[in-house]
Amino acid sequence: MTSRVPPPSPVPTETAAAPAAAPRPGAPLLSLVFPIFNEEQVIPALFERVEGVVARLTAGGDCRAEAVFVDDGSRDASLPLLLAEARRRPWVRVVSFSRNFGHQIAATAGLEHAKGDAVVLLDADLQDPPELLPEMVRLWREEGFDVVYAVRTEREGETWFKKATAALFYRLLRRLTNVDIPADTGDFRLMDRKVVDALGAMREHHRFLRGMGAWVGFRQTGIPYKRAARAAGETHYPLRKMLRLAMDAVCAFSYAPLKLATNLGWFIAAGSILYGAVTVVRYLVSAGSFEPGWASIIVVLSLLSGVQLITLGLIGEYIGRIYDEVKGRPLYLVARTAGFRGEPAGAEGPQE
Ligand code: UDP
Ligand code: MG
Repeated sequence: MTSRVPPPSPVPTETAAAPAAAPRPGAPLLSLVFPIFNEEQVIPALFERVEGVVARLTAGGDCRAEAVFVDDGSRDASLPLLLAEARRRPWVRVVSFSRNFGHQIAATAGLEHAKGDAVVLLDADLQDPPELLPEMVRLWREEGFDVVYAVRTEREGETWFKKATAALFYRLLRRLTNVDIPADTGDFRLMDRKVVDALGAMREHHRFLRGMGAWVGFRQTGIPYKRAARAAGETHYPLRKMLRLAMDAVCAFSYAPLKLATNLGWFIAAGSILYGAVTVVRYLVSAGSFEPGWASIIVVLSLLSGVQLITLGLIGEYIGRIYDEVKGRPLYLVARTAGFRGEPAGAEGPQE
């Protein structure tokens, strides 16, 4: 921010929302966080829906609201659209990455830039209906829950393959990991400030937020919802990225693959000893007319080599992750921000 830019009037503050009534002193601030990657097609509809919900939440003056949009290195018109919205609406904040860092990192940055007493994480494609917010806020404020996560009872507009792999993944994860990650729950959730701070204190690079959200504990509850189809555009989670996320999830919360390697080793070792014993007995019984079998040697050799390579690969997955942590790089780099306190909305902001 430079002196070139005249301060807008009134100066937006962190407390500014789309106020129907002036907020009461001490009214809690609610932050909405949206990771955005190439979402130019949904941004207009998104703002329309979010504006309505923000107006409803803040209508009585006993709640304030802000929304943090993290542009995850979009290559389309998402960023200019967001900056234009930030100029128009005082409750909009924009954080723009220097490149694409991935959904989980973008969500993390949103949590770190949100100032709210509670923060809600939502997908920008309107698959997570913002209309669920008043109920989430009620459970947080009136019933004292620290985390209110949304549980998908139905998924619209998704292929049977995605539904089947997702269902399998959630169930497998529950069995493999030692944290109780609720089934059919995505990143759509409300979190109290203390939970957001706890997640911020966890600096791991391979982030699986819904697992980390379960790991931190606190009072949690779920509410059911029907996951809508994407409002526009296409998914940014192709099979390749889904498998990466699944591997991150398993490695971050479980040693099951390493244990599998050990168990496989025991199993194969026991099998070989047994096979050796059988061969000796057969040799003795057949009294010299025992023919050696090349084929079986090749099969056993290649099988064992395959198992060894898989095992090395599994160990490598963990070593690679250790390497990423040891390097200690920042999780993301911010190119510019807009709409934060003391910063003219939509103007170029300082690096944070
Ligand atoms: N997203 C992101 N960075 C990425 C990929 C996705 O910030 O590299 C955002 C995307 O804009 C959306 C959310 O993450 O708001 C979820 O992505 P998407 O809807 O494509 O995933 P799906 O719902 O199909 O699993
Ligand atoms: Mg989506």
